[in-house]
Amino acid sequence: MSKCWDAVIIGGGVHGCSLAYHLASQGLRPLVLERSYLASGGTGRSAAGVRHQFGTEVNCLLAIENIRAFERIQEELDYPWDIEFQQGGYLLIAYSEGQLGQFQENVALQQRLGIDSVMLSPEETLRLVPELNPEGVLGASYCAKDGHVNPFHLTWAYARAAERLGATIRQYCPVISITGDDRGVRGVVTPDGTIECPNVVVAAGPWGPSLVEPLGLEVPLYSERHQIMVTEPVERFLDPMILCFDDGTYWKQTPHGSVIMGIGDPMELKGLFMSSSWSFLEEAALRISSHMPSTLGLRVVRQWAGLYDITPDSQAIIGPTPVEGLYLDLGWSGHGLQFAPSVGRILAQLISGQEPFIPVDALGLDRFQTGRLIPEPACV
Ligand SMILES: Cc1cc2nc3c(=O)[nH]c(=O)nc-3n(C[C@H](O)[C@H](O)[C@H](O)COP(=O)(O)OP(=O)(O)OC[C@H]3O[C@@H](n4cnc5c(N)ncnc54)[C@H](O)[C@@H]3O)c2cc1C
Repeated sequence: MSKCWDAVIIGGGVHGCSLAYHLASQGLRPLVLERSYLASGGTGRSAAGVRHQFGTEVNCLLAIENIRAFERIQEELDYPWDIEFQQGGYLLIAYSEGQLGQFQENVALQQRLGIDSVMLSPEETLRLVPELNPEGVLGASYCAKDGHVNPFHLTWAYARAAERLGATIRQYCPVISITGDDRGVRGVVTPDGTIECPNVVVAAGPWGPSLVEPLGLEVPLYSERHQIMVTEPVERFLDPMILCFDDGTYWKQTPHGSVIMGIGDPMELKGLFMSSSWSFLEEAALRISSHMPSTLGLRVVRQWAGLYDITPDSQAIIGPTPVEGLYLDLGWSGHGLQFAPSVGRILAQLISGQEPFIPVDALGLDRFQTGRLIPEPACV
């Protein structure tokens, strides 16, 4: 096989494709290897919510850049179909005093960093979404510039733009192993042969840790199943995406009118299980219809499951590793899709020897050795 790649990216999710686009934009030649089809992992299974409203400085700074990028992405990537980025707002509702206090802290941080998020009283929350059941609503955090996107179109848009700029994307080509030793990478092994390359980026989601373990790298990350479903399309009744951390529910109405609903459940299966369950349907329908009774009559047309890849502080691991030429982009829990624009750009800068436009040292793998964890409070 050819030896002329500047970087091999393992994983054709939204992160792998965004990175390929940003590397190719700099004149480098990336190769994306995806063992299945593009967006077949967490990306295509996601609710694809996009928000500024995080509770750590690094995530808020990245989020500002993500949303700036989403606002111009259709033109930037010159994609012929609608990526469906809609800024209908994102409403995070508090049902407990603890959560309300956390939102107040988060919003103070967000506002200090220039984000237009606000706290809403119960009355303001209900004015924004009159269909909500008022029972138990203590208030909410809201940002009108947040929203959601179509995860498949987003990934394909990056992939097509990357290919136009000289990147190569191979689907149905699994990486069997990474070659090299604890001093540096040499390339990857695929069923079609070995590919030599000075830089390898592992953007393989929950499957990433087992790829780097033979090189002596321990990545503290576990996988957890998360389930989600979609209804038939109905007349538009909901602009903001809604999330309730207190019981892990979230829902949004897509531009076609279907409603996507999911729940995070601490009792969910851990490991690489992606089957769906009946109990999820019942539980999600029960919880979400209690928040919004108007969803009660909606007919579900499909359900599926995906994996969260979760680190001890629920923060991603991005950047270089002690193995020269080996980079990680893993551990995105349930909020990684929206970070693809900024993180793809940052990793491309790091790989090409530039200063990242936002420092991400805090998200390095070494934090698990130094103990400098930065827990993200605003995730499901
Ligand atoms: C139910 C659910 C809801 C979510 N909701 C949101 C949301 O609202 N907002 C948000 O921002 N995020 C959300 N997420 C999280 C988001 O989907 C992920 O964080 C994000 O898609 C991660 O993208 P990725 O490219 O890093 O990984 P993935 O999309 O998982 O891509 C990794 C790819 O690597 C491939 N791969 C693995 N091993 C190999 C190998 N050996 N060789 C080659 N290829 C390999 C896989 O096939 C996969 O396609 C949600 C996730 C789930 C499951």
